[in-house]
Amino acid sequence: MSSTIAFIGLGNMGGSMAANLVKAGYSVRAYDLSPAALNQAQAAGCYAASSALDCISSAQTVITMLTSGEIVEQLYLHDPGLFNQLSPTTLVIDCSTIAPQNSQHLAQCAAAKKLRCIDAPVSGGTAGAAAATLTFICGGEADDVALAKPILLSMGQQVFHAGGAGAGQIAKACNNMLLAIQMAGTAEALQMGVNSGLDASTLSEIMHNSSGNNWVLDKYNPYPGVMPQAPASHQYQPGFMVKLMLKDLAIAMQTAQHSRSDTPLGLHAQQLFEQLQSSHPDYGDKDFSSIQRLYQPPQTNSRG
Ligand code: NAD
Repeated sequence: MSSTIAFIGLGNMGGSMAANLVKAGYSVRAYDLSPAALNQAQAAGCYAASSALDCISSAQTVITMLTSGEIVEQLYLHDPGLFNQLSPTTLVIDCSTIAPQNSQHLAQCAAAKKLRCIDAPVSGGTAGAAAATLTFICGGEADDVALAKPILLSMGQQVFHAGGAGAGQIAKACNNMLLAIQMAGTAEALQMGVNSGLDASTLSEIMHNSSGNNWVLDKYNPYPGVMPQAPASHQYQPGFMVKLMLKDLAIAMQTAQHSRSDTPLGLHAQQLFEQLQSSHPDYGDKDFSSIQRLYQPPQTNSRG
């Protein structure tokens, strides 16, 4: 495969995604502000670019996996302003989870430069990124999503087209609001069982095979020691940081406001994650399954 892809943002998600593109035969030029992340990408077979501008040189496709809408807009539109440097028809795939309004603004600016641009936030977590089993939720022109599809399928298993520019972000906001509610609800139920004398693993197995089953019980159990691979069994190392879940919940609450939707459970989940983050200076950087700690009695909540 001769196509060159520029990949910017090699964190918990992007590092594995770029490595999977290399495995699929693409030539990948990678860039991150963090030298450690860049070194890892180089070890995985990427070319380590010296700057964002160096990264995009000779690339037909640019992928970004960054933390916020401000960072994405800054990179593409302001400093260094990649949209001014890319050749017309370059495909820009932004996989970051950002506000739908940021993605729509980006798409308008891209169209003015004759670039092809889609929003393609992902679901599946760091395990999905590592195993190339992510789900991509795209917004933009159908032709551009079709062009991106083979590339996305090198990093994942499913590609959905939710609608026009920003629609991928709206679907992602709905999904992550539900995920936050599920995570908090699962932690709450597990703790009630444990406080009543049940074993967390036994209770998890029962609920996993009963009507309370959900993605959290299936893949991401928040109780320490139940799932050896889950962040809960590794001192809640991310994974998906509490501060990123709070960013997503803020996007969800904005989306609710714009669409005049009632989201009392989403709002309550946001308050719980805020309470978790403010309970300890390090918790913003912990995995979001650490919400379990909010429910644990004080004498046990230093575990995990
Ligand atoms: P992360 O903080 O681990 O990675 C972000 C990376 O971007 C960092 O390595 C950082 O150094 C780099 N970066 C920041 N600004 C940059 C710039 N201007 N130029 C180059 N590099 C820059 O975050 P993550 O967990 O990988 O998440 C990335 C995105 O994916 C977020 O939008 C998040 O909401 C979303 N997401 C994360 C998960 C998850 O489980 N972690 C799941 C789905 C979606």
